[in-house]
Order: sequence, then C-alpha cells, then structure tokens
Amino acid sequence: MLLCLVLLTTEVSLLERNNLWAPWRINYIQGLDKTTGCFICNNRDDPKKDDENLVLWRTDKSIVVLNRYPYNNGHLLIAPLRHIPDLDQAGDDELLEMTKLVRESQKALSLAIHPHGFNVGMNFGRCAGAGLPGHLHIHVVPRWNGDTNFMSVCGNADVISQSLIELLALLRQASKDHALPAL
Ligand SMILES: [Zn+2]
Repeated sequence: MLLCLVLLTTEVSLLERNNLWAPWRINYIQGLDKTTGCFICNNRDDPKKDDENLVLWRTDKSIVVLNRYPYNNGHLLIAPLRHIPDLDQAGDDELLEMTKLVRESQKALSLAIHPHGFNVGMNFGRCAGAGLPGHLHIHVVPRWNGDTNFMSVCGNADVISQSLIELLALLRQASKDHALPAL
C-alpha cells in the first residue's frame, strides 16, 4: 500500500511538471556565442526591418518582439529601448511601461490565438536561462492545456518560422482593432 502511494505520488508529480520541450531552441543556444551585438538593440535601430525582425510594437520606452526561437507559439519579448541588464538600472517609467505591455501583450495574444494561460517572467544571468543577459527583457509565453505533449511531438523549427510571420500579422490586426500599441 505504501509502495502504491509512493508510486502514485511520483506519477502525479511527474504529470504536474509543466516544462515545455522546445527542441528548435538548440539552433539559438548553439549560436549564442557566434552572434555579434544585441539583437534587441539591432532591432531597435533598424525600424525598416520590423517585419523581418518580427517587431510587434514600439512604444516611448520599449520594444516588443516575437521570439524567433519560442518556447511556445506566440512567445513575446518586452524590452526597454535602453540596453540595460538589470532592473536596478531601469527607471520607474520604464518599469511601468513594461508592466503595462505585459497586460497589452496578454490581451493581443488572447484576441489573436486564444491561449488558456500564460507564463510571464524574467531570467537574469546565463546560468538562469537568459539567452541575452545584457538586455533586460520580459518573456510572455502563451500556454494551452496539453501544449507540452503537442509541442514535444510536433515542434519543428521550420513550422515555427512559418507561423511566426502569420502570427505577427494576426497580432498586428488585433492591436489595430482594439487600440493596443503599434509600431
Ligand atoms: Zn541591447
């Protein structure tokens, strides 16, 4: 009986683990040391390439981009325009704007692709998972019931790349229709 309980408990805890398996991110992780400069700063400074760079919104102090190597469909990054690594360096105005953009991002994603939930978070330092440790950013990752199973079976870098372009268009349309931020 005790053994059964232990097994049951182990199985439940495994089922409750909800980490996303995103194998296409290996391209990104392997390329980290080869990239030159900061892609958020590069995007910020090159508005003519907003489509190509998957930039969704530009606001007074921030930029919002679709993550090219997403943990899940619709993974957005919200960053201050200034290249600063930590919250310590961010002004209250930047923090307020980024927090509002979390709210607006959730709204746009909800309208466009109807997720069941979200993960919102920040990583500091490469050991903590920050792919771009020099430039502060907030992750907004849409989640769907059962998405871990779906993504591990169907995840594919090419499929994601294609859907990113379509997704950008959907999010821009939702932003336009609902007076959300724009470029
Ligand atoms: Zn930067």
